[in-house]
Parts: sequence; C-alpha cells; structure tokens
Amino acid sequence: MGALLEVRGLHKRFGGLRVLDDVDLAIDAGEIHCLIGPNGAGKSTLFKLMVGTYEPSEGQVLFLGEDITDRRPYERVMRGMSIKMQVPSVFRELPVAQNLQIALQRRLPIGAIPAEQARLLALLDLDRQADALAGALSHGQQQWLEIGMALASGPKMLLLDEPTAGMSPEETFRTGELVQRLNAEGMTVLVVEHDMAFIRQIAQKVTVLHFGRVFAQGSIDQIVSDPRVAEIYLGKSHGE
Ligand code: ADP
Ligand code: MG
Repeated sequence: MGALLEVRGLHKRFGGLRVLDDVDLAIDAGEIHCLIGPNGAGKSTLFKLMVGTYEPSEGQVLFLGEDITDRRPYERVMRGMSIKMQVPSVFRELPVAQNLQIALQRRLPIGAIPAEQARLLALLDLDRQADALAGALSHGQQQWLEIGMALASGPKMLLLDEPTAGMSPEETFRTGELVQRLNAEGMTVLVVEHDMAFIRQIAQKVTVLHFGRVFAQGSIDQIVSDPRVAEIYLGKSHGE
C-alpha cells in the first residue's frame, strides 16, 4: 500500500528560528507510525503542519496523493484526516453516549447512529460509562472519548499528539491496546509521543526527529538498537 499522508521538502521557520529543515516523511496506509525525538525537536510543529494549524515556510503536504498544503484543517478532516488535539473537545456536562451521538450526527442518518454509537462505546471500552457524564470520567477515559469523537467523522487516518500525556501506566497501556484495535480494523495511525514504553507497545514504524530533521527511521527494533538514537536521548534530554 502507498503513502496516505506525505510531506515533501517541508521547512518551518519562526522568525529566524529554523524549526523544521527539509523534512520528507511518508505515512503508509495501514501502519502505526510513531514520531519521536527529544524535547524541542519539532514534533508538534510537524504535526501542526500536517493537520493544517500551521502553514509551512516551504514544501508540501499531500493526502491521498492530493496537495493539501493550502487546505484548512476542516477541509483535511472532510478528506479523511482525523485529529485528536491536546485541547479537549468533549461536552463535560453531557453523558458519554450523547457526546458520541452529537459527533455521529454530523455524518450518519439518524437510524444508523445507535449501532455505531454502541460499536464505538465497546471499542473505547466505555460501554459501562455510557450514561455517565463525560466530566465525571477519569483522565484516561476522557482521552479515549476524545479519540472516539475524532473517530465519529469516519476517518481514514487518525493523528494523535501525545495521547498518553498525564495518564497512569495502566491507562497508557490500555490506550496502546485501543490504538492496536483500531489498526487491526485497518486504521492508519500517526502518533507523536515521547513515552518509550508506549512506543514499544504500538509502533510498527518509527521516525526520529532531531533538531528539525529526520534523524533516523525504521522498525521499532531498529530504532531502539540504534546507538545514535540512544545518544540523542540519553545525552541531551534524559527522561524523555
Ligand atoms: P517538540 O514537539 O518536538 O517538543 P516543538 O515542535 O513544540 O517541539 O518545538 C520545536 C521548536 O520550535 C522549539 O524550539 C519551540 O520553541 C519552537 N516553536 C514552536 N512553536 C513555535 C511558535 N509558534 N513560535 C515560535 N517558536 C515556536
Ligand atoms: Mg510537542
């Protein structure tokens, strides 16, 4: 299968600061691709260029072979990119099931909603919380509901920036299982993350960003056994 999302010759400068320098990256259909790198490497900036929050200084972003560099974020969502932002989008004062219903109404006819709602609740492992207020969920459960809201648009690809931030190890592990269930159903997933245990759990392909450039790329086994990668992590930003 070919590239679903691709960036070519991507540069991003903020004033005189070069944050991304000639980045080429392809996310193939069907894979779980993790973007890692030390703090300040440019991961979140690259994520924002992919989803359309930022415009590149130079270069292109392609989705399904189409140049979407000038497309607004919502236009990218309509083409099948789905984004879980770090800022929450759930309605805390409404029940979990109703949150999903609202998100599904934008896409499905009314009769098709209950089945899809039930499928998502099971997938997210939130069936027992269907009637609970979203605001009463644990931090991890709220993040899974956020992912469910992103899935409600029926995307071809899911993009997650630090999905496990603030989670317990148990919640992090279960988030990994959720990503793997989605991928087993055919979902292409891009994850920006610095929790190495989580990356080892889910990653099929890993790209390492360092000082705004692609520093290494390969399978998770290749990356964790690459001494150059260990050096940038241990030498520069221990703990990431
Ligand atoms: P990462 O997610 O890998 O930690 P970021 O993409 O957030 O890295 O940041 C990379 C660099 O770009 C940092 O030096 C950061 O200060 C800088 N940067 C990010 N966003 C902006 C911005 N909006 N304006 C100026 N500098 C920024
Ligand atoms: Mg970041």
